[in-house]
Amino acid sequence: MDIKGKKISIIGAVRSGIGAAKLAQKLGAIPFVSDTAPEEKIIKNLQVLGSLGIDYEAGKHTDRVLESDFIITSPGVPSNSEILTKCFEKGIPVISELEFAAQFCKGKIIAITGTNGKTTTTTLTAHTLNAAGIKCHLAGNIGNAFSEVVLDVKEEDFVALEVSSFQLDYINSFQPEYSLILNITPDHLDRYNNDIEKYISAKLNIYKNQQASQHLIYWDDDQYLLSRISNPAASVMTFSTKYKIEKGAYYEKGNLKYREKGREETICTDEDLSIKGMHNIANALAVICVVKKLGLENNVIKSAFKNFKGVEHRLEFVRELNGVKFINDSKATNIDSVWYALQSFKNPIRLILGGKDKGNDYTKILHLVKKHVKQIYAIGSSSQKIYDFFSKAV
Ligand code: ADP
Repeated sequence: MDIKGKKISIIGAVRSGIGAAKLAQKLGAIPFVSDTAPEEKIIKNLQVLGSLGIDYEAGKHTDRVLESDFIITSPGVPSNSEILTKCFEKGIPVISELEFAAQFCKGKIIAITGTNGKTTTTTLTAHTLNAAGIKCHLAGNIGNAFSEVVLDVKEEDFVALEVSSFQLDYINSFQPEYSLILNITPDHLDRYNNDIEKYISAKLNIYKNQQASQHLIYWDDDQYLLSRISNPAASVMTFSTKYKIEKGAYYEKGNLKYREKGREETICTDEDLSIKGMHNIANALAVICVVKKLGLENNVIKSAFKNFKGVEHRLEFVRELNGVKFINDSKATNIDSVWYALQSFKNPIRLILGGKDKGNDYTKILHLVKKHVKQIYAIGSSSQKIYDFFSKAV
């Protein structure tokens, strides 16, 4: 796409918006960034724009946003917001930052989405490829915005891209070489008018433009996914923590295995995996599908899995003090991730639980709490709800 001289309005002066503005400017377009946040709240980002001579406004969206050839929206902007509604009414094309950046990517994209496990799996993918000497950039919802790194990506490079459902809302031509869908459980329903189907269909956009030479990988144990993935053009691989898979990766009696064309190989054992818990076995199986397809040797994969440091705030071991292990899992922001965390330890747990309530239904974790948790420390605005729900259980 030639965007020289094009006027582009970017909604949201946060990480991806700033990245998109910089990329647009580098490519000779005229970016304009607009954010409703008060100037003092996003002053650092505005200073970056100012220093580059990029126009912006803060505090509100004026009609200047509409004087553009197309709009790039940030993941944080709801589709029913006043500004996007105006853009749709005027017929101005709206795309996500992901879609924008992808058009200028020379390398191959491994796009990873799902309700939980995106950051862990994206990081492990890049780590494993880099360990094998294949240059893999890490971008998206994690670390650098895609727009910030895309011009550094060479033809022979890969990009492991963490993709949220919000970024998949505005996709027209996004076509990753590999798309991975890790799992789907209800989350962020506030952004999708409480409609799980809308949330799922955004996630499924990840493979809609793929072709037969490309790959779709998804979790075979996920009922939501299984019933909704229909006729993908891409070649399909799946992974399972429960069953033997025809084409893809699975977990059997402590072993992580890969199978293709009837040939079965053991890649490593669960002991070899530095990150613990059944959810991380699932994440590793997803990575195995990609890296096996790319021809990595089993011993390279195994040693990369062994020395993977994990990602902070995700079941992160902090320290042991007086015989008590402290684990930071503050990125467990929905019931499903807490469910996996409670499954991951044999010792009795004291659980610090709370924060903002997203309409959580704690029923799913009640039996695990009764089984593993000695005491709950309820904090934040949901503490009363947590107290009321669990007070008889612990
Ligand atoms: P995301 O980027 O999708 O939020 P993260 O890798 O940051 O995912 O992990 C978020 C939380 O979910 C952490 O508490 C982590 O332990 C947990 N988690 C990681 N992988 C999975 C998975 N496959 N299924 C459920 N929970 C997971």
